[in-house]
Amino acid sequence: MRWSGQELKTEQPSALPGLVKLSNLVRSVQTPEFAGITFHEVMAKSALNHIPGPKTALPFGWTINPYRGCSHACVYCFARRTHEYLDLDAGRDFDSQIVVKVNVAEVLARELAKPSWEHQPVALGTNTDPYQRAEGRYRLMPGIITALADSGTPFSILTKGTLLRRDLPLLAEASHAVPVDLAMSIAVFDNELQQSVEPGTPSTAARLATVAAAIEHGLSCSVFMMPILPFLTDTRSHLESALGQIKASGATTVIYTALHLRPGVKEWFMSWLEAEHPELVPRYRQMYSNGASAPKDYRRWLAAKIEPLIRAHGLQRGKEDAATGAIRSTALGRVAGPPATGPTNPVLASTVLASTVAPRQDPPTLF
Ligand code: SF4
Repeated sequence: MRWSGQELKTEQPSALPGLVKLSNLVRSVQTPEFAGITFHEVMAKSALNHIPGPKTALPFGWTINPYRGCSHACVYCFARRTHEYLDLDAGRDFDSQIVVKVNVAEVLARELAKPSWEHQPVALGTNTDPYQRAEGRYRLMPGIITALADSGTPFSILTKGTLLRRDLPLLAEASHAVPVDLAMSIAVFDNELQQSVEPGTPSTAARLATVAAAIEHGLSCSVFMMPILPFLTDTRSHLESALGQIKASGATTVIYTALHLRPGVKEWFMSWLEAEHPELVPRYRQMYSNGASAPKDYRRWLAAKIEPLIRAHGLQRGKEDAATGAIRSTALGRVAGPPATGPTNPVLASTVLASTVAPRQDPPTLF
């Protein structure tokens, strides 16, 4: 568990039962602007998480998670179980009990300044969303972006949050120093379904407008169509509409994956399905009876359906980072590609050349 370095030695009387584990808990806060949400502010001891790659390949990744828990509240989110390490539940608590690393930017700057730091790409948004609503209050991302750019570290951000717009000028500036790869997660293009399955997220239209704004700032922004929900968002009309709107936003790259349902998340998702689409329960039970992934046949069927549509819309399929599940950094691609415009990093280049990137079977989170 990557939070093990932050486990606590002292109990905080104001904390919820499971949060007594957080000895670095500063305080728990509720405010009228965030009704129903409690922020648990902690002093982080580390900011960079090291993610081993798939067993069959060499690559590994680095991530930063300024928040734990996510008020975007997607019912299919497979970061949910991480809340259980704090004796909080993977359902409502994940959506409403948000741990905030209030000093993450300072800790990160110290870690990036170490001579041992090799400037590998760092991914944000692979576990919980860095531009969830809490970011409006805590403003942790500007300090993180500045620390990464100042240290010459390439980075990517994956989000559903339109709050990203606030930092676009800063990100554009950072992109002159290091490769910056943005990705917006937009999987549901039916407004009613989107509000039901991702109740805490900004609308699809607002996210598409944020993609367009990022591109206007000269940044690259891909779209993650994740997850594709069987029998709900995999119809030809939904896919056509989605890809048409993505193309119109100015994005050029999409990444898609069918729904994963890990234990813990599966129960939460199925209770939503029973309430909202009971007619689909038997079909989902059959599909996900043998594991977290959609059956191979379904994935083949989906690929045969969506890939010609992606091409027909003049879009291309992007690549995921094998270790983190984020968009694959252009800092990696450029090793074998055209000359870099930013700083050249021989350590990064040798790491990448030594790596054989295998497709990830079990990405760490799902946007
Ligand atoms: S899928 Fe992403 S945006 Fe949705 S709740 Fe999980 S971390 Fe938040």
